[in-house]
Amino acid sequence: MSKIQMKTPLVEMDGDEMTRVIWQQVKDILILPYVDLKTEYYDLGLKKREETKDQITLDSAEATKKYGVAVKCATITPNAARMDEYNLTQMWKSPNGTIRAALDGTVFRAPILVKGVTPYIPTWTKPITIARHAYGDVYKNTEMVVEKGSKAELLVTKPDGSQETALIHEFKGDGIIQGLHNLDQSISSFARACFNFGLDTKQDVWFSTKDTISKKYDHRFKDIFAEIYENEYKDKFEAAGIEYFYTLIDDAVARVIRSNGGYIWACKNYDGDVMSDMIATAYGSLAMMTSVLVSPDGVYEFEAAHGTVQRHYYKHLKGEETSTNSVATLFAWTGALRKRGELDGLSELMSFADKLEKAIIDTIESGIMTGDLYLISTLENKKKVNTTEFLEAVAETLNKSLNS
Ligand code: NAP
Ligand code: MG
Repeated sequence: MSKIQMKTPLVEMDGDEMTRVIWQQVKDILILPYVDLKTEYYDLGLKKREETKDQITLDSAEATKKYGVAVKCATITPNAARMDEYNLTQMWKSPNGTIRAALDGTVFRAPILVKGVTPYIPTWTKPITIARHAYGDVYKNTEMVVEKGSKAELLVTKPDGSQETALIHEFKGDGIIQGLHNLDQSISSFARACFNFGLDTKQDVWFSTKDTISKKYDHRFKDIFAEIYENEYKDKFEAAGIEYFYTLIDDAVARVIRSNGGYIWACKNYDGDVMSDMIATAYGSLAMMTSVLVSPDGVYEFEAAHGTVQRHYYKHLKGEETSTNSVATLFAWTGALRKRGELDGLSELMSFADKLEKAIIDTIESGIMTGDLYLISTLENKKKVNTTEFLEAVAETLNKSLNS
């Protein structure tokens, strides 16, 4: 069988630890035998980030803007322990943070449902997609430790040179302060990305903030969403038979738990970070979640939502067997290949992505799965396999479907 041809390269961002091991195996076992893969490769492994003083991360973000589609492996965000482990000269920023800041946009995360894995919330029969705003707030903050007796104020110098100040606090004891910002333009594109995704997938859009407490900051988000919805989307939503509604984050959390799923929950940056972990875990596993960053100018970065699975990596280094779930990494690849196919008009590449995803689901539903799913699956004939065996089993399923 001849390999599927590509036109434009994917931006390939390699990463760290167990996911780096999986990355190579996914390519060797499930991509390279079928696709004449074209990528522009960026090694975002921590060693390379240190060597390049993190320039490699900025370069990979620029390449993503240039080509339009990237696929990213999980990467280490350095903390104090990593400083020693990797002999770092600086605690480099989270690559995801850097890339999101460069591309702006919204991260959509949706669980991958399989037979045999019942969500912890059994009423969730349909997926809940989290749309996480990927710009600003606490991820681009300025913080200070403040000494007792200090007075902290917000100071804004306007274009005409005049100044506006507001008291934050007069400190009678030691304390801390934090400055946050966001941009109308970024919030607007977040809103449009969510409404478009709702129309594309025919799902309701929910949006929640804490506007009762944050009467200017969070309220601005609420107002921008409302205005864009009224002016640009209301008619389209009504025609599609879907709904947009806004509610307080507390109320949203309560409604989500009682719901059946099947909608998009738009969240501010921090809320989306936290809630997507909660949603992923409740649906069964962090490794059964797709994640894509969509920028306002139509640039896509596909990734796994989980980390580098450090504990498994140390077992792997000791020569012990691992049973690490590669599904999220695989879906990052299929998402990126399908989008590349769509943009370049390559139907064969798109259909390969569909078939590979189906082979992954079919393999798990036939009872072959990694340890994380084995623990929670209710299938009677389930069998736990190791990291590589799972990928080989998917290849077998895929080959059968390609030959039939
Ligand atoms: P993690 O890598 O997501 O793993 C946490 C635990 O979740 C694992 O120990 C494992 O549980 C389970 N798990 C996660 N992914 C799994 C998979 N694919 N298959 C099976 N089990 C899986 O989070 P972490 O250990 O907190 O973070 C490790 C590193 O990842 C950190 O350096 C962090 O900075 C980085 N990180 C990167 C990203 C990203 O690049 N997107 C996101 C988050 C964290 P058991 O050990 O119980 O099996
Ligand atoms: Mg998180």
